Amino acid sequence: MKTTLSTLAWTVLVTAAAAQFNPAAFPPVNEVPPINSTEVKEWLKGLSFADVPVLPVHTGNPPACPALAQIPANQCWWTCQSCPADDIETCPTPGTWGLTFDDGPTPNTPALLQTLKANNVKATFFVMGSNVVRNAEVLKQEVAEGHHLASHTWSHHPLTTLSNEQIVAELKWTEKAVMDITGHRMKYMRPPYGDIDNRVRAVVKKLGYIVVDWTSDAYDSKDFALNAGFTEATLSAAVTTMSNTLKTYGANPGAKGIITLEHDLYPVTIEFAKRLIPVAVEAKLKVQSIAECLNDASPYQNGAGPIQPSPTIKPGSGNNGTQPTQKGPNGSNGSNGLVKAGSLVAIMAISTALLLTA
Ligand SMILES: [Zn+2]
Repeated sequence: MKTTLSTLAWTVLVTAAAAQFNPAAFPPVNEVPPINSTEVKEWLKGLSFADVPVLPVHTGNPPACPALAQIPANQCWWTCQSCPADDIETCPTPGTWGLTFDDGPTPNTPALLQTLKANNVKATFFVMGSNVVRNAEVLKQEVAEGHHLASHTWSHHPLTTLSNEQIVAELKWTEKAVMDITGHRMKYMRPPYGDIDNRVRAVVKKLGYIVVDWTSDAYDSKDFALNAGFTEATLSAAVTTMSNTLKTYGANPGAKGIITLEHDLYPVTIEFAKRLIPVAVEAKLKVQSIAECLNDASPYQNGAGPIQPSPTIKPGSGNNGTQPTQKGPNGSNGSNGLVKAGSLVAIMAISTALLLTA
């Protein structure tokens, strides 16, 4: 009997998971979800913040950096102290380009997917829960085409301005939306604006997440800013700047690969990507998703490697994520009662499929 799950089994799993997606069951979009809902109370149960550092909660959207001397030394605030702690900022292999798109999925994303397919490259999409519930079909297309999904919170509020409980609500609602639609429980997250400190890190780690930033300011494409007052001249200047950065890196890649930041938000950011991605050939860079550049065979907390049709993402073997000791807030691997019920259906479906393919 085959020891790994067949494509058929995973198709059944996704169908079972998708069957329970109900957009009306989610909080209002683009707002920090309330923390007194039944779901959030359940997620908070058994989750202790006793070992989470007590640090100032900031204000502003995003917060402005105070003078360095005013920031507690143990805060390790990425955007204001250039302090990454153990966040991922690079790919381990020189000459690799970790391609990432934030803030989607949006109705503009399919045009980007077409470009990625035409160039035969895979990317990581850091998705916003508020956009996931409104563009479920686009999310499914991302997975079907071999791309990797990671979390970018529910409402895109800067996390250092939120309470520990609100951070849990932001991540768990996004996780539930993606889980209900695709069957994948995300394992990587990127804080909106890169706004993360040691308090936020401690909370996101409790939920099993690994933090991914980008390599440095030079690798932030700043495509986001092109939408306001867009002209061909500003677009072409931005493409030239980023192309030169990639070529300079490619000529002398040093010890690590790079991770760039782009957005699948507006037609102009999609056009930016369309022009930039082919530069990889001239810059001698290998474009990869974050899962692939980290050589992570289980890029989701529930494994789920076999559903990735990308020939370059190695299949995992079901529930064998690399963080077996990290549990959900109830000490379980399910994200809530609804998902657990769905998982039972899925497990039954997989068992049936395995029998069929034995
Ligand atoms: Zn963002």
